[in-house]
Amino acid sequence: MKTKTIFDIGIGSLHLRVPSTVYPHEDALRNATVPEVDVHIPKRASTSNSLLAALPPKEYRQLSGDLEQVALNYGEVLYEPGKQIKQVYFPNDSIVSLLTLVDRHQALEVGLVGREGMVGVPLALEISVSPVRALVQGTGTAMRMKAAAFLKAFRQSHALRRELHHYTYSLMAQITQTAACNRFHVVEARLARWLLMTHDRMRANTFQLTQEFLSQMLGVRRVGVTKAARALRNLGLISYSRGNITILDRNGLEAACCTCYEIVKDMHEAA
Ligand SMILES: [Zn+2]
Repeated sequence: MKTKTIFDIGIGSLHLRVPSTVYPHEDALRNATVPEVDVHIPKRASTSNSLLAALPPKEYRQLSGDLEQVALNYGEVLYEPGKQIKQVYFPNDSIVSLLTLVDRHQALEVGLVGREGMVGVPLALEISVSPVRALVQGTGTAMRMKAAAFLKAFRQSHALRRELHHYTYSLMAQITQTAACNRFHVVEARLARWLLMTHDRMRANTFQLTQEFLSQMLGVRRVGVTKAARALRNLGLISYSRGNITILDRNGLEAACCTCYEIVKDMHEAA
């Protein structure tokens, strides 16, 4: 599959270089690249999804027969609004954006799912239709499970129900805060928040984004995205050249970010 148009506001693909204190294996991560589409992935593998990892070993073993590790590729659509949820996904190092459609043609990001959660939460509420579009924002792998197998496991496993209940609360909190954030906070602060949220969920430090996607994510026109990125660069928090963005000062980025980042993080940790 050919790579889609790269973010073309003078930034190119976003490449984030982070301090070693954030990730323990910086050297490996620095050399990490977005996986090739054809890369061989073992079907059965241990997971770095924290929701699955929180299950007791016995319960995870029972689930594992129905879990298949798959590659999720940037730009791939997993669900469309109003359509049946056929499979759920537990991201390992991939990121999936949840988008709400407005007036049928405009889309706005309302949630972000990474290794902390699951794509397909309505099934945990016995709803088999997705209210949102689920779009792969960060290439990587996920553990995939058929909806029927998930429902069976969900009804049988107290531990899985508990994890999903907590995660559903956490995702609701994120969506609620994002609604307020989109209304009240400036684009630069929202971009800083988005970069931090994305970084928290990815193992690789390379992000690929289209300009259109960033516009959807922030709910602003492309010119607004350009201005926000320039503002962060002028503050010395990030730099970008030849298709790469480097975080120069993560603490500074956190300071430039709106309070929504910490609020959502605290609510997730408390769930
Ligand atoms: Zn905010």
